[in-house]
Amino acid sequence: METGVDNLRSDRISARIQAWRERIEQAKDSQLYFYNQPIDELRGAARVVVNGREMQMFASYSYLGLIGHPKINAAAKAAIEQYGSGTHGVRMLAGTLRLHSELEETIARFKQSESAITFSSGYMTNVTAVSTMVSREDVVLSDKLNHASIVDGCLLSGAGFLRFRHNDMADLEFCLQRINPDATKLVVVDAVFSMDGDVINLPKVVELCRKYGAWLMVDEAHSLGVLGETGHGIEEHFGMEDAIDLRMGTLSKTIPSAGGYLAGKKDLIEMFRHSARPFVFSAAITPAQAGAAKAAFEVIEQEPERVATLRENTNRFINGFKQLGFDTMQTSTAIVPVLCGTDERAYEMVRYCQHDDIFVLPIVSPAVPDGLARLRATVTAAHTSSDIDQGLSVFERAGKKVGII
Ligand code: PMP
Repeated sequence: METGVDNLRSDRISARIQAWRERIEQAKDSQLYFYNQPIDELRGAARVVVNGREMQMFASYSYLGLIGHPKINAAAKAAIEQYGSGTHGVRMLAGTLRLHSELEETIARFKQSESAITFSSGYMTNVTAVSTMVSREDVVLSDKLNHASIVDGCLLSGAGFLRFRHNDMADLEFCLQRINPDATKLVVVDAVFSMDGDVINLPKVVELCRKYGAWLMVDEAHSLGVLGETGHGIEEHFGMEDAIDLRMGTLSKTIPSAGGYLAGKKDLIEMFRHSARPFVFSAAITPAQAGAAKAAFEVIEQEPERVATLRENTNRFINGFKQLGFDTMQTSTAIVPVLCGTDERAYEMVRYCQHDDIFVLPIVSPAVPDGLARLRATVTAAHTSSDIDQGLSVFERAGKKVGII
């Protein structure tokens, strides 16, 4: 079998492979390669064993610390016992498990929507949502910092594609004014931005959508369980009801499973259930994923103190960084960007932090613009105050060594 560079041809694909190989080797040679580190074990919800060493987890999306929750684990096991490890294939052609319907009813209730549908990943959910809602004759408007899966959905849809400046409502209005008033328009935004941790100005977005007759879709990947007094998300946070046409979320972050959902008015969701290509042509989430996800939504409501703890931890974490002199950009949520500047400085920070048993990872170009490389530190409800303080002291030492503070 041919491996590595042996099968390269002198074309552009080979050039890309070669460029990546060099980048990876360079990072490995300088001991600055942090991709795909193997996590061997979960110890509690805030500690992991990585390469045999126990570390404090400051890179988790399990914002409410639900990963490993006994009720959720038990629900996953019970679902396997009842249904087996897989589905029979595509739901439309091989049958929908009762558990899928129960999960979707649970999501609809949690999100105060008439109906909900699930897909096998959050990424696929966004691609599907946008490309099913709009097509060639329509226009989609997307915040510049929206997640890649939204961007891919916009491109796949073939609709006119406008990107407005990040969270800049004057620019959104400017874009809306430029579009033919008769065109069908869809505005898509993240509720909490995945790299910066800041919150979309939902009241203004809703006002503009109503003024210009645009549909609104909001991605709640990082706001579910995080925003709102009881963790129900961005509408609860702003005290707005029925403000969003299509509520999207993932089952892989606060909900410790995998998959994604769309929630909204019954007829809209029925359209997805009958025409969304990944629903019609791809298998559903497995019983274990569905069982875990359903139980997780229930646990959020049964244990509301987790949301309050997350809020306290978030304040302690962000204020701690600020007091140390770090730049945490505009965040006010559990995603805390710790600005480092160059990619190299971000890698160095990670090396020092991991050396002192803090598991955190860098975000470098092209995921963020050159010069805005950062650590993407996250805090969860599972951290104790002393975990946070201990973590901050490691960040402080690392920041001083690298010369960021
Ligand atoms: N939307 C946002 C804002 C995200 O951050 C992510 C994942 N990082 C996704 C969608 C995709 O979700 P999933 O990982 O569940 O596929």
